[in-house]
Amino acid sequence: MIIRKTPEQIERMAAAGVIQARCLRMLRSKCHPGITTAELDEAAERFIASQGAEASFKGYRGFPGSICTSPNSMVVHGIPGVYELKRGDIISLDVGVTKDGWVADAAITVPVGPVNSEARRLLDATRQALLAGAGQVRPRNRLGDVSAAIQRQVELEGFSIIRSLVGHGIGRDMHEDPQIPNYGEPGKGPELEPGMLLALEPMVNAGGPEVRVGEDNWAVYSADGTLAAHFEFTVAVTEDGPRVLTPWHEE
Ligand code: MG
Repeated sequence: MIIRKTPEQIERMAAAGVIQARCLRMLRSKCHPGITTAELDEAAERFIASQGAEASFKGYRGFPGSICTSPNSMVVHGIPGVYELKRGDIISLDVGVTKDGWVADAAITVPVGPVNSEARRLLDATRQALLAGAGQVRPRNRLGDVSAAIQRQVELEGFSIIRSLVGHGIGRDMHEDPQIPNYGEPGKGPELEPGMLLALEPMVNAGGPEVRVGEDNWAVYSADGTLAAHFEFTVAVTEDGPRVLTPWHEE
């Protein structure tokens, strides 16, 4: 069942979203060669606590970090640790913020210094796919319109949508209905209604769409070892169209 939120509840989520987006921008500014993913995790934890909020991922199903840090061929769910960023890496930073019981979830993939042209294209395509999907978040559209817009943008660039990982509804819980595949058919799926909150998150491999889970039982990697990218917004369906509650793309 998709839980619709009242305008007041959406404002509470937007308050979590403002903190979330500021956290991502702060982390992005720290992604230089030599910093470890554990240092990024500590910076995020400190920042979120300083805002009177909590890191939603900490302890979620036993996850040990405050954020997920997933470099290069790692798609998502990387546990922060000793890994040191190097020039030419790309790294997905995924952050959930809980404020007064409401969750905002978003992610960006950041280049560390100059990256090669394939990495550049992969980041651009995945970000554009998220924006295209978010553009479809309006009343009377169907969820399939969102999924199909994401898929079209990614495949236009010759990259692969990962099928086995999906976006999700969000609210008091980080993961609510519906599941949101990043592929699909226009006109199919549930109709979007004002008050629905969607965490859209295209996860894209430069090579084939298959993934594998790492030895820590958390990290997900592209199966063929090619680069992977991940961008995410929490978006509200409003009468006026999409409202991005985690505006990391605005400076
Ligand atoms: Mg998510």
